[in-house]
Amino acid sequence: MLTKRKAGQPGQFCSSVSSTRPAGLDRRAFLKQSGLAVGGLAAFGSMMPGAVQKAEAVSAPMPGVPIEIKKNICTHCSVGCTVTAENGVWTGQEPSWSSPINRGTHCAKGAAIREIVHGDRRLKYPLKLVDGQWQRLSWEQAIDEIGDKMLEIREDSGADAMYLLGSAKFTNEGAYLFRKFGAFWGTNSVDHQARICHSTTVAGVANTWGYGAQTNSYNDIRNAKTMIIMGGNPAEAHPVAMQHVLAGKELNRANLIVIDPRFTRTAAHGTEYLRLRAGTDIPVIWGILWHVFENGWEDKEFIRTRVYGMDEVRKEVAKWTPEEVERVSGVSGEQLKHVAYLFSQERPSTLIWCMGATQHTVGTANVRAYCTLCLATGNVGKPGTGANIFRGHTNVQGATDLGLDVTSLPLYYGLTEGGWKHWSRVWEVEYEWLQSRFDEVPAKGGREPRTRKENMETPGITSTRWFDAVSMPPEEIDQRSPLRGMFIMGHGGNTVTRMPEMLQALEKLELLVVADPHATTFGAIKGRRNGTYLLPIATSLETDGSRTASNRSLQWGEQIVEPAFESRDDYAVIHDFAVKLGFADRMFKNIAVENSKVSAEDILREINRGGFSTGYCGQSPERLKAHMRNQDKFDLVSLRAPADTPEVGGEYYGLPWPCWGTPEMKHPGSPILYRTDVPIWEGGGTFRARFGVERN
Ligand code: SF4
Repeated sequence: MLTKRKAGQPGQFCSSVSSTRPAGLDRRAFLKQSGLAVGGLAAFGSMMPGAVQKAEAVSAPMPGVPIEIKKNICTHCSVGCTVTAENGVWTGQEPSWSSPINRGTHCAKGAAIREIVHGDRRLKYPLKLVDGQWQRLSWEQAIDEIGDKMLEIREDSGADAMYLLGSAKFTNEGAYLFRKFGAFWGTNSVDHQARICHSTTVAGVANTWGYGAQTNSYNDIRNAKTMIIMGGNPAEAHPVAMQHVLAGKELNRANLIVIDPRFTRTAAHGTEYLRLRAGTDIPVIWGILWHVFENGWEDKEFIRTRVYGMDEVRKEVAKWTPEEVERVSGVSGEQLKHVAYLFSQERPSTLIWCMGATQHTVGTANVRAYCTLCLATGNVGKPGTGANIFRGHTNVQGATDLGLDVTSLPLYYGLTEGGWKHWSRVWEVEYEWLQSRFDEVPAKGGREPRTRKENMETPGITSTRWFDAVSMPPEEIDQRSPLRGMFIMGHGGNTVTRMPEMLQALEKLELLVVADPHATTFGAIKGRRNGTYLLPIATSLETDGSRTASNRSLQWGEQIVEPAFESRDDYAVIHDFAVKLGFADRMFKNIAVENSKVSAEDILREINRGGFSTGYCGQSPERLKAHMRNQDKFDLVSLRAPADTPEVGGEYYGLPWPCWGTPEMKHPGSPILYRTDVPIWEGGGTFRARFGVERN
């Protein structure tokens, strides 16, 4: 849809800033005349949230038709921009002026977000493939037929013969429910997109200093005096986050160093650009560290008090002389020395990365090298420092946190007896019953047999290898039987590198269920003639629930419109399958369901009850909704609301995890990880070794 407006006639939502705009001016002219446009993006970016008024319900365009303003979160990247929309039929949209993250801006992707609800490529009703032809069927028929086939597969071949592929587009509640569904079905083969994007980041940063997440926030980048962006192109991929980078660059006269094989749009904004040979990240980082150590620019006190093993790093780095680094990476020693000086001496400094760092066979090692540079120069645990890791989808952080990973339970509890017992207590089901849901694995291929308990504590198959579990000889597949069926929610088929093997496996699967707002590449596989079902699912803009942005802030999104056509939300579909498969009573014991409408609030309360390891325990639905109501009260840079603010006083926007204790205890959230200059109760914390890891 292309709507034109007459000049000087503001859209309905602009009424929220009408007191600051003279009548008769369009937005551009207003900015120009008020001087805001002169400073460009940075000056616009520094506009304080308090300068605008809260969006209120506007008068109805037609008598008797009420309009209500709803807020949800853009789904197209992890920045977490708030979308303000009219409910009902979603006739109008504005980027939220009051959000401390996007402050009245959207990128082109966010501006077009309405299309994913109203686009003509939406799946409209359930379909199944019969002899190569799509046939329409009802939801009841679909759940019945799919459920019968799943039960048959389970009976003949075991629970692990079904693969569950989840999504970074789920809300937190959807991700948690899908992982729980896997546990109640009896498999750990539950994965999602993070497997191929930032799983190496999670492993690399968690193994270095404790948590697998961005240490600071997009907003905090404004505090940095030096920024390195390595393997990321936020000017195109995370444009609203780039505003914070550019504002920091202008306001602080900060150094912006871009290291990338390509001269990207982001590089065009840099004060320094280093072109490295692709895949030589570690030599370049070691090359920077060589100059740091050579010149005594390391932060000796930080290393003395907070780091161990730096002497071993020093020995390794000594091998990476400027000549050797230039030979390997193509970057000159002179350039690296300058970068080493800026990063270590013009502090605080932050290192920003994205998929260019992680999608390598040595992705985890790249990440650990980056962390080592931050540690050696004392650039962690303070404002303006840290590893600012820009993630991909809206909720890839939350979906990872909530256990869509073949190696863990929700909130990084391991697949250990203790982890399972913790969640069985939270879910109020017997641990022995959960254990009984898993397969016994017979001895085969020279391997010992596995008991149900052992299988319950064994990681599932990753989303990059599931097709091998269909096609390889059965004795080579380390589970009871090969895969026979796959249930996919919110995941495309074009994310694997071994496409030919995947296509062969898809042709062999007896059951392929694609539950998605769109048909996706999985729905278009040529070789299949039967046994494929397409289930229309609501987008997250048609779903209530929380999402966790890259900076660990949780934001509550409201359903903007009812699910389009015959689509249904994730919670309802997972619930109805749990009913069909016979475990809904146990699975939804503490979650209210009325006419298949599942309470997202109750799901989050259950997450809160189990979320003590990661600090997902203080963010109740009530607190998150209060944050959305009071978005304009939070400071643009610190993300903190003044202490005397009603409802949210002293809290950080979105209660970034860890947010310890019960909601009633009112922990403010931790916007910057590993701060030792503030108490834990104010958002501070220390590095923490992974559970079970000890020095030496
Ligand atoms: Fe959406 Fe990301 Fe663009 Fe913001 S920056 S509008 S979250 S795609």
